[in-house]
Amino acid sequence: MIMKIFICLLATLLLMYYAYSKKAINLLGTLIAGVITYGATYYGGYPLYLMIFLVFFVDLIFSKITKTSGEGTRNEIQMLCNLLLPYIAVLLYYYSYKDMYLVVAAISLAECLADSLASTIGEPAKHHFNLRTFKKDQTNISGNISLLGILGSLFGSLIIAIVYYAFINHNCYAFFLIGFLGTLGAFIDSVLGAYLQVAYVCPKCKKEVEEKIHCKRKTKKVKGLTIIDNNMVNFLSQLIVFILGILFL
Ligand SMILES: [Zn+2]
Repeated sequence: MIMKIFICLLATLLLMYYAYSKKAINLLGTLIAGVITYGATYYGGYPLYLMIFLVFFVDLIFSKITKTSGEGTRNEIQMLCNLLLPYIAVLLYYYSYKDMYLVVAAISLAECLADSLASTIGEPAKHHFNLRTFKKDQTNISGNISLLGILGSLFGSLIIAIVYYAFINHNCYAFFLIGFLGTLGAFIDSVLGAYLQVAYVCPKCKKEVEEKIHCKRKTKKVKGLTIIDNNMVNFLSQLIVFILGILFL
């Protein structure tokens, strides 16, 4: 018992130190990630720790390889939008004794890694396709997809599926479900990004942006719902695969 608390705490502090020193997460975000990582490891087991670790650091590695900004420094809101649902799934597992919730936790984390790799690996792609205008586009904005991005999200989901299969349960159905729903979640993220997510146009540089202020000027809304920003889209797409996971298990 004391040993378990000690190992979970040590592992969590290691992750927090690494995330913060690499500027992967800001200070408040690191604290929230720490609390959730500790709880998920304690209640869900060590493979959960490995999954959370991979969610952060595979993206970091690929942003170095592709020389893109990756997800940049993530803040506390992003942390909650990415980790709250997996954590709820772990708590459901702990209190209900049902293994299916551990699969749901893995699905939610797979979606998380799939989504960040879709943008990090997809960024250098030459051909992007906009899901709203159905036109080719050159930039990697929300609502655009690319072949490289889809392969990136498949790769991300499979990493989490492999951890589940190797360290939690040799269950082929769960393996495919984590791989499939993780990838689907990243795609749903792009669909919601294309249709519901708010977008503005900067009057100076004429670019479509996600900020209300750009080039020190007030931007003008061109599409989407004001309350649905990128974090909300991330949360909603993860919620959809979280529910689909429960239905399919
Ligand atoms: Zn601008």
